[in-house]
Amino acid sequence: MSCLFCKIIDGSIPSTAVYQDEQCYAFADLHPQAPVHVLVVPREHIASLADSVELDRALLGHLLWAAAEIARAKGLGKGYRAVVNTGEDGGQTVEHLHLHLLGGRAMTWPPG
Ligand code: 5GP
Ligand code: ZN
Repeated sequence: MSCLFCKIIDGSIPSTAVYQDEQCYAFADLHPQAPVHVLVVPREHIASLADSVELDRALLGHLLWAAAEIARAKGLGKGYRAVVNTGEDGGQTVEHLHLHLLGGRAMTWPPG
């Protein structure tokens, strides 16, 4: 199994855990783009949002809920951004679905 995030989930590559449950694992991004930068990933390997199927609907909702829980725990009351880079044009570099939770500073729009 060669997927970087699967290796992080199984512990063979170390990470700083932020939240975990039976469906997802959340950990600190190695190259944070904001004071809070957490990646929320499904334990199941799904390559990207574009590869999700109808059976994944509840899991996708769960990832968003987990991000909101983490944001509450981190005190991001002023707001935050939840981003799912998808595919080449979306800027996805790791092919295991992940949600970026970014907070602790004001974000700009539109993204680059
Ligand atoms: P993407 O560009 O695919 O949306 O996001 C991939 C993210 O994974 C990037 O923000 C990058 O910093 C992060 N990342 C890449 N390799 C590692 C790693 O080994 N450990 C952690 N914690 N984050 C990583
Ligand atoms: Zn994977």
